[in-house]
Amino acid sequence: MKAVAVFPGKREVKVVNHPEPRITSSDHVKFRVLDIGICGTDKEICQFEYGTPPPGSDYLILGHEALGEVVEVGKAVKRLKPGDLVIPTVRRPCADPTCRSCTVGHQDFCYTDGFTERGIKESHGFMTEMVVDQECYMHPVPGELRDVAVLVEPLTIAEKALAQTLWLMQHQHRPPWIHADTPSEAWGNGLSALVLGAGPVGILGAMALIIQGFRTYVYSREQAPDIRASLVEAIGATYISTEQVSLSQLVKQAGNIDLVYEAVGHSPFALAVLRELGTNGIYILTGVPSPQALMEVDPAHLLRNLVLKNQVVLGTVNAGEEAFTAAIDDLTIFSRRWPHVLHSLIAGRYPVEQAPDLIVQRAGGIKSVISFDEAALRKVPD
Ligand code: BGC
Repeated sequence: MKAVAVFPGKREVKVVNHPEPRITSSDHVKFRVLDIGICGTDKEICQFEYGTPPPGSDYLILGHEALGEVVEVGKAVKRLKPGDLVIPTVRRPCADPTCRSCTVGHQDFCYTDGFTERGIKESHGFMTEMVVDQECYMHPVPGELRDVAVLVEPLTIAEKALAQTLWLMQHQHRPPWIHADTPSEAWGNGLSALVLGAGPVGILGAMALIIQGFRTYVYSREQAPDIRASLVEAIGATYISTEQVSLSQLVKQAGNIDLVYEAVGHSPFALAVLRELGTNGIYILTGVPSPQALMEVDPAHLLRNLVLKNQVVLGTVNAGEEAFTAAIDDLTIFSRRWPHVLHSLIAGRYPVEQAPDLIVQRAGGIKSVISFDEAALRKVPD
């Protein structure tokens, strides 16, 4: 079976022949991988900055943004049958019985660092022809999402972040966000959100913010005319280029910045924007920054603002059960409301042989997808 693997010891990325997995437990589901997205994390793993093979293996099979089609199920599997489309979650729990998160199915909040992540940390990923995993980690997706369902996993990052933010607002009654009569399906009404970065995580996050009613700005490097700028404008957000508009000009235009959704992973930029967070603002960090040269910052300014403006800084990683369900629901809404935008986020589908080059050379941004589905590979984009 073909698989795309990274060999950290030899500093190599290549297509390998890997044994096909078999169902060995009654709760197992076997699926054939249809599509698998490439993201910034894959690139970092292939630059040998991140990622660990499973114990005893000198390579790690890549890939964590997968869409599969069930081909076989174990005897105890109830919810799935052959032919169903599924999205697998990424993280698996640690084995520590005292971990207060993993023991209740919230491994995205694991305390011990003993979790594994498929395609990232100590567990093979999905960039291969067949996968076997437990039913509890599978999320069924409706057939109407076949062409865009590979975007579910990157969207889960925003879904977890927004659920955390809403939870914080509702439970802490933080003014001026939530009033008792604010409908939870439009809790961003009257508030502004600034998204940093116009890659897939940024644009999908912007879509999620827009459907919650936020006045949404996307701040990113590319200068219009540019595909990312046009997609952002097409969903009703305002696109602003860092090359054309300074941060202080942006703040004048946007007014109080109530929420920042950071999806770049560039620490100097992230810190510069933190200085501009508005009163009662919430700053969500999702990017994992690479090491940077030391820089000077004025910690007093940042900390003063946090205190004097009631600000919250929230880091978030990975996503749990609820975020996957929310992402599938929201992707259904997006695909009805902005079908063209969603399709355009997928830059192209490529055969597995091209994966190593695509991962290593990828400049970031709009999603490249490796497909094991011959029919999808042959399909000409609309
Ligand atoms: C994945 C997450 C993962 C994180 C850190 C991201 O690219 O989407 O599932 O937890 O990397 O490994």
